[in-house]
Amino acid sequence: MKNKIISIVIASIVLVVGVLGFKIFTTKNVEETSVYSEKSYIFNKIKNETLANIIDDATSQIHKGPGPSPEKIAYITIDDGPSKYTNEILDVLKKNNIKATFFMIEGNMKKHKEEVKNVQKEGHSVGFHSVSHDIKQLYKSPEATLKEFDTCNNTFYNITGDVSKLIRLPYGSKPYMPDESHNILDKNGYLMWDWNLDTEDWRATTDKIVSNVLYYGRDRQHLVVLMHEKEQTVKALDGMIKILKERGYTILPITEYTKPRNFWDKNL
Ligand SMILES: [Zn+2]
Repeated sequence: MKNKIISIVIASIVLVVGVLGFKIFTTKNVEETSVYSEKSYIFNKIKNETLANIIDDATSQIHKGPGPSPEKIAYITIDDGPSKYTNEILDVLKKNNIKATFFMIEGNMKKHKEEVKNVQKEGHSVGFHSVSHDIKQLYKSPEATLKEFDTCNNTFYNITGDVSKLIRLPYGSKPYMPDESHNILDKNGYLMWDWNLDTEDWRATTDKIVSNVLYYGRDRQHLVVLMHEKEQTVKALDGMIKILKERGYTILPITEYTKPRNFWDKNL
């Protein structure tokens, strides 16, 4: 089977090179400049992609098949960072080969720029968690609400050159957020995420966090797990991930293509 695939791949490459070569040959006298550019294209292609690489690529494409469509999905979301714990959290995630979502506070991004870059470099998702983390300031007016998340985006852009539409409101999108604030965020394309599994990690011991996941996480197809950048959370993370995997969850990062789940839309 493998030999057959490889010979098909080699045959295709020979055919493509042959066709391109023939094209160069036949257009040679017509237009010198285009011949030159086609020649250098082929030269660069061969230089950059050795035969082994091309075969590797082709076989991995063949083996890839259709993407997985997991039935049980868990999103691990981590609020209030980045912090002095971010790098440790990243290590645990890497060890387990999973990606999470970090909802960052603007001031903490400025204080921990390297951590912001590390989170992004390692392929995790970044969203924002306001500037003030204070519902009185955040909801002073709809403009004030929007401004806080735009400010987060500016700071994130200055650090990484990237932007994000993912947000988590401090204390959740209900019951504190007024309609006007919700509407202006919505109109500006921000994607609101709440949770359906509160680990209560900000006040729980490591053991309690793990048992909260065991208890509150049962019988749900989709989990949005709420966590914070705390010492006890870092210690609980590995055990938590183990439980989720044992229960058959595929752990994924939230992206801008994921349909937002929040208290407002009652779809958690
Ligand atoms: Zn928070």
